[in-house]
Amino acid sequence: MKALLHDIFKTFLSGKDGADKVLDMKQQTLYEYKKKKKKQMEIKWLGTAGFRIKTGETVFLIDPYLTRNQDAQPVQPLKPSDIEIADHIFISHGHFDHIADIPEIANQTKAMVYCSDGAADTLEHLGTDKDQLKRILENGWETSFEGFKAQAFFSDHIKFDKKLLFTTLLKINLRLPQVIRMAKTFPCGQVLSWRFSIQNKIIHFFGSGGSSLTELEKLALTPVDILMVPLQGHSNICDIASEYIRILKPKIVIPHHQDDFYPPVSQQVDIRPFIKKVTRKCPDTKIKVMEINETWHF
Ligand SMILES: [Zn+2]
Repeated sequence: MKALLHDIFKTFLSGKDGADKVLDMKQQTLYEYKKKKKKQMEIKWLGTAGFRIKTGETVFLIDPYLTRNQDAQPVQPLKPSDIEIADHIFISHGHFDHIADIPEIANQTKAMVYCSDGAADTLEHLGTDKDQLKRILENGWETSFEGFKAQAFFSDHIKFDKKLLFTTLLKINLRLPQVIRMAKTFPCGQVLSWRFSIQNKIIHFFGSGGSSLTELEKLALTPVDILMVPLQGHSNICDIASEYIRILKPKIVIPHHQDDFYPPVSQQVDIRPFIKKVTRKCPDTKIKVMEINETWHF
């Protein structure tokens, strides 16, 4: 970009024959460059269920959670204070690994936070300005922003199975009172899944994998380009998550939430069975596995 501007400037000053023509061409290139940049989209995975999406000049966040704990893997070097720019924040549900960093991020960015009534109560209690909280009370609620549209659908939280509960409780052991306190501070509330329509593409985000078959079949009536599906919270999560792909048939799936973000409450999920299943049963769906803080341009 710098080089392009330098060339234009140089040509303009030199006053050579045909300079006007060259300048026209360069301006045209600059125009095309700006147009392309405006169209470009970026998705960055922040670990857990957190994403940063940039479209044109707009930046929005989904379930951004960075603080994790000292044993978390992979390590997230970013802190909430590193997020200086965000225009909107969308929340799937009220658990700590989805909203604990919101008060700080919302205060710093002044972004509007779109969440359930329950999550809004928690956030207000934790000091988030109530004028920055938009409570979503209706299934199918939608709104338009510059460059994209967001729509919220009522969904459900995954039910932890006995095997996972038992092994997690064993790991938690003496830290149980602390974990209970955390669960009480951050109740789940109504779970929302989010659909974003950006530049003729549909991105659908789930923050927990408790959707019913009816819910997924209804959502499947609109084709999904990019599906973000969480892989945490159940011993058979790879089977459960692959059902989302079978029903919604997205062009691309981004698995997330598989990282060990808060041991011993969380666990690193081996997503290879999920990849195997999707590859076998839904060969038309591409799987995009992201590294923490990786940015994907498309
Ligand atoms: Zn949760």
